[in-house]
Amino acid sequence: MADSDSLTLTVLGSAGAYRTHEGSRASGYLVQYGATTVVLDLGHGTYAPLAARVGISALPQISVVAISHLHPDHWVDLAALRHALVHGNKMGNDARSVSVIGPSGLAPRISALLDDRTPEEQAAGAYEALQPFAFTTWRSDAALPPLGGGRVVSIGDLTMQSARVRHTGESYALRVVRRHAAGLTYSGDVSHWEDLAAIVRPGDTLLCEAAGGATRWREGDTHVTAYGAGKAAASAGAAKLLLTHFGAEVDPAEAVRAAATEFSGEIVAVREGDRFEI
Ligand SMILES: [Zn+2]
Repeated sequence: MADSDSLTLTVLGSAGAYRTHEGSRASGYLVQYGATTVVLDLGHGTYAPLAARVGISALPQISVVAISHLHPDHWVDLAALRHALVHGNKMGNDARSVSVIGPSGLAPRISALLDDRTPEEQAAGAYEALQPFAFTTWRSDAALPPLGGGRVVSIGDLTMQSARVRHTGESYALRVVRRHAAGLTYSGDVSHWEDLAAIVRPGDTLLCEAAGGATRWREGDTHVTAYGAGKAAASAGAAKLLLTHFGAEVDPAEAVRAAATEFSGEIVAVREGDRFEI
């Protein structure tokens, strides 16, 4: 039995958008603390391990699905989750909603993805494919937050914070923390490691993408390298660095060695199914 005061992080998927090894799955992470269940991203292939871990009958009790940005490898399995909620659980439209928080524009994209009508039927009227999801965004008002800006929201016994980072026009790093404790910061996808300073706190576990692996970052790159992940962990005083979201050509062991030139703490290249107590 795990320490009851620990967050449990389960890696649902650690691959980049098109990694090829058998069993690879795109971004998705399950964070559990008591009765609070948080899903950080839900990319392709991650619905199945989520359902296996939580149990299909308990899917409606997910506290929140938090989406970092609009690239499909971070959210497309919301379609599978919706099918399971509506059909697997016979929730119907009157059932309890599952909260989804993400960038602006996520809800209409999912609606479009699920819209099975012909163009003629589409022209004839509106369509509602979003039940049983309840969408909110990381914007505290209509405006795009400045870099580093976002929201702080209470999720059951946890607090979640977002901080806008550079990657797409609206991308967020996310931090999950229980009261008076170090937390888990997830980078989402981020082009500049310096942007993570707005959200990583001393003692945190930093779950950081390293899509660039052990290559050297160049201006214009949209992902950090393992060196950048190491710099982000070191400069913020993180306790531990978990590397993830590896590009198709990245050797995770090389990525760990690269990050270790910048960060002296523990570094792990995560794999699908890995679990960590935080
Ligand atoms: Zn991305």
